[in-house]
Order: sequence, then C-alpha cells, then structure tokens
Amino acid sequence: MPEKKSSNKRIPSAPRSPGVYLMKDAPGKIIYVGKANNLRSRINTYFTGKDTRPMAPFLMARVSDIEFITTATEKEALILENNLIKKHRPRYNVVLRDDKTYYHLSLDPTEKYPRLQLSRKRLNNAALYFGPYPSGLAAKETLRFVQQVFPLRSCHNRDFKLRARPCLEYQIGRCLAPCGGMVGKEDYRKLTESAVLFLKGRSRELISDLKKQMDNASNELNYEEAARLRDRIGALEHSLEKQNVDYGIKIDQDIVGYYAQDNNYQLCILFIRGGKLLGSKSFTPIKLKTNIDEVISSCLTQYYHGESDIPDEIIIPAHFPDENLIAQWLSEKKGKKVMLIVPSRGAKNALLDMANDNARSLWEAANKKEENKMMRLEILKEKLSLSKLPRRIECYDISNIDGKHAVGSMVAFQDGEPNKTSYRRYRIKTLNDPDDYGMMHEVLSRRFKGKDAPPDLLIVDGGKGQLNIALSVCRDLKVKIDTIGLAKEERAFISTKGLVKKKLAKTEDRVYLPGRKDPIFLTSFPSVLALLQRVRDEAHRFALRYHRQLKQKSDLKSALDEISDIGSKRKTALLKHFGSVKKVKDASLEDLQDVPGISRKLAQKIYKELANK
Ligand code: SF4
Repeated sequence: MPEKKSSNKRIPSAPRSPGVYLMKDAPGKIIYVGKANNLRSRINTYFTGKDTRPMAPFLMARVSDIEFITTATEKEALILENNLIKKHRPRYNVVLRDDKTYYHLSLDPTEKYPRLQLSRKRLNNAALYFGPYPSGLAAKETLRFVQQVFPLRSCHNRDFKLRARPCLEYQIGRCLAPCGGMVGKEDYRKLTESAVLFLKGRSRELISDLKKQMDNASNELNYEEAARLRDRIGALEHSLEKQNVDYGIKIDQDIVGYYAQDNNYQLCILFIRGGKLLGSKSFTPIKLKTNIDEVISSCLTQYYHGESDIPDEIIIPAHFPDENLIAQWLSEKKGKKVMLIVPSRGAKNALLDMANDNARSLWEAANKKEENKMMRLEILKEKLSLSKLPRRIECYDISNIDGKHAVGSMVAFQDGEPNKTSYRRYRIKTLNDPDDYGMMHEVLSRRFKGKDAPPDLLIVDGGKGQLNIALSVCRDLKVKIDTIGLAKEERAFISTKGLVKKKLAKTEDRVYLPGRKDPIFLTSFPSVLALLQRVRDEAHRFALRYHRQLKQKSDLKSALDEISDIGSKRKTALLKHFGSVKKVKDASLEDLQDVPGISRKLAQKIYKELANK
C-alpha cells in the first residue's frame, strides 16, 4: 500500500523515494498531480525556479499544500499519477478530452457466442474495441458490412437467452443462428476471429487464411462452404480495392502529431493498421501553457491507459524524459515490445508531417469556431439589449403530466457550449397540481437561494407568464440577471366541448423581453436563434428525461405490485437483493432465481411481466 505524508511547502519533508505529489490550493482543491523518481528533488525544482514551464509560476502562486504518496517504483507512480489525474482532472495538468463523440465497435470474446455492437463508451474491460470511427454513420456502415460478410448474431444477450428458434436474420442469411443450434461453437469461433482480424485491419492476412479454408472445404467436397468462403473473400477484396492508400508497412503504427502556438497545443493521432490508414483521433486544444515533454507524456499515458489496441510502434514528435519508462509500461501492457520512435527523415517522418498537418488544421478550425461563437454572443447581447455578454446562459423548464412526477430542469451553456457538469434537476416538492407557473417559481427560488453565482442570461421556456414569474423571483431574491422567455406562439381555440383551450401553434420561436409588450423575432439572425433554441431544447430534453425516469420507476414499482404471487415479503427480498426496481427489471432469469423465496416458475413470471414495462 502506498504511504501517505503531508507537507505545507516544507521541502525537506518531501520523501526521497519515488511517488506522486498532489498540489492543493488554499480551499484544499487538487490543482496539480505529478510523479517523480525522487520526490524531494522534483519538488525542489518548483521552489528554486528550475521548472521552466510557462505555467509553473501561476501554479506555484496558488499552491498552499502538497501531499505525497510514495510508491515502490517509478512505474507504479506513473500508473497512480494517471489514475489521480483521471479522477481529479486538476486544473494545471494536461487532461485529454475528446473533441467530439467517437464511436467504436465492440465485441466481448469471453461470451460463448459473441456479438458485435456499436459503443460510445468503453464499458466492458473484457471486450475488444475497434475504431474510433469519426461518426455514428461511419461506424454503422462498417458494422453493416461486417454483419453481411461475417454473419455473427446481432440480437441482445437478453433476447438470445430466451430464444429457442432463429429469427429473420437467419432467414436472410445475416446470422448463423447459434440460438437454434444451427452452428457449432468452433465454427462460430472461427467466424468471430475472422471478423476481429478484419476490424483490426488485417484483411490481407485474413484473405489468405480464408483461401486456405476454401481449398480445404473444396478438397473435402464441401462445395457449399467453399462457395460461402469464396463470396466472403470477394467482398473483402472489393473493400480493400476501395482503400487506395497502402503505406506498405507490415506492423501496426500510431502517429502522434501536434501543433503548438504560444505553448498551447493541438494533438492528433493517426492509426495505421495492416499498412492502411484506418482513422484518426483528435482532442480539444490544450490551453495550459506547458511544454511539449509534458504534452507527449500525458498524451501517451492517458490515451493508452484504457486502450487495448496498442500498436507495435508509436511515432512521436520529440524525445522526452519519461520515454523509456512509458515504452516499458506500454510493452508490459501489450505483452510485446513497443517502440517509441522520433523519425528525422524517410517514410516515418512523412507520416509524422501528415499528423502534424492534421493537428494544425484542427487548431485553425477550432479557433475559427471559437471566434464564431463569441461573435454570436455579441450579436445576442446587442439584439436583446443585454447588460453583459451572455457567456454563461442558464435555461429552465418544467415537465409533468397533470402535476404527477413533476420536475424542473436547469441546463447551463458556457460560451455557447453545454456545460453538463453544471446541469441541475429539481423534483417539485410543494405542488401536486398541474401548475407550471408555481413549479417554475419553486425551481427558480431554490436555484437563486443557493450559493452558486447567477448566470449572465436566464432563459425560461415559455412566454410572458413564465417570464414574469422569473422576474418576480429575481426581484424578491434581489438577484440582478438579464432574463428572457423563449416560446412558440400560443393560440386560443374552442374545443368540441365548448372549452377555450390554448394550443402551441407551429410558428417560429419568439423572444419575450421584460417591459416589452410584443415579443421579438430573431429570424434574421439564424445562428443566434439556433443557439437559444439549442439551449431551450436541451432544458426540455433534460427535464423530460428526469420526468420519464421518475414515471418509469413508479410504473415498475406498481408493476411489481401487480404480479400475483408476489407478496410484500418477496417484494422486499427482491428489492433488497437488487437495490432498485430498475435492477430487478434488468436482472437475468438466473439472477432472479438467486433471490431467496423466488422459484424458477416465479422468476419466469417476473421476468416476462417486467420485460414489457
Ligand atoms: S438468428 Fe438467433 S442468434 Fe441470430 S440474431 Fe436471430 S435470434 Fe439472434
């Protein structure tokens, strides 16, 4: 176990052993995590001005305390440092953030009959992940192609377990139907391995392997199988023809390129598999004013930390102090030597140039986007006569059905982009009736009675009524914020029963401003209107999701109540075992039978009843 020690800027108390140091600011927040082979001499460099990173003086001005965690080796410190950075995301560390949503395909080889699926996040450590693909569409196209060529099952595990007969996928030749015992375990395994080889970019190796299998099948007079393999080979060769750039490299390579401006960095990693450029991955620009050594070191440790697809060679733009340590760590992870290479000429240098060019283009595109975002906020300020630039916008919405499961939502946008860690949801406590105004009043009062700083612009989803509620809450709580309402037109109509009802008309959105009788339209400024709509739609989506969660929870609870043979004793046993009704619903048949008092017959009944909810 690592040993913990604490210091208050007293350098001598830093141990001389390897380990990790955590720098904290006055309120105790971790603002930097670093590792060293000799903690004392590393800490010394901070206090003697030997740390030349441009951000070092800013860091030191804020450090109030340093905590040390000693480790047995520097490698152990490297892993611990990485875990702590991931956990605390300290302000002065390089933290890699994806610049968009990347999609992967995943397959869990530990399953008896694995299936390939689309994944946004890495959830299962036992699974193999392929990609990243630049868009959902690209990932889906690859998935469709793989399923056509390698007919692995596509059904969910839950359906697979219940299935006794093959589904339509089998009839149309897109699954070998392990559910109905139509394919042996060994044949399915071979098919899975072929799909994995293809996804790893080893098409040439795969084709020669399939050709051997085809010859064997035809020697054994199994012409049906030989024809199937021939078609598979044809499809693969066709897909290879479409990828026209072949770098002729036999080993797998990743290339880490970067672009720097004023000690800020943009990174881009290219992936070469089987000689083909399979894709790339980029991250949000690192605006930290640090040096390239730290950027490369953090990039390698953070990117490959959870990555199972480690290449044989990683081309990097410069040598850095931790190079040997990180190469060692990567080799151990891969179970094979991994080389870190800094090329100076030749084909590898050309690849590095390509990665660097990509990084520069990404930097320029991100800067342009940033400029556009700020310009959009300037226009918004001017058109709505706001008192300040709306860098932080909060929007509020209410969701309920006849007052039931009533909730409120708050979403926050910083510089025109969602800041999801600031989102809040509120369960309405004071009202049971369908009173949207009252609910909005409760939510806003709870928000602005809190200690969090108010936003620059407050938006309520609704017209004059909602706007007036927001204004009265701000007035009562003496909070000064620019406030607007955003709504589509509401028109009164007489229902067939003679009642006057109001219905949302399908008109463009209008903005309601305090003290102004008529709303204003922003149709001449589509990008500004689009921003407001995006914020409002996000608040609506967030409120609705919470409302549905509460409703589903309550529906499931009553569904459990409705199953005959489930008395309060068994219900309590189920909830105690699984922790929530949702987990009872997600449980497998076998898991349900593990609960004391639940027989196989009863487990089947619960499974079926809850499956439809
Ligand atoms: S045939 Fe069977 S295994 Fe294949 S997708 Fe359909 S249910 Fe799943």
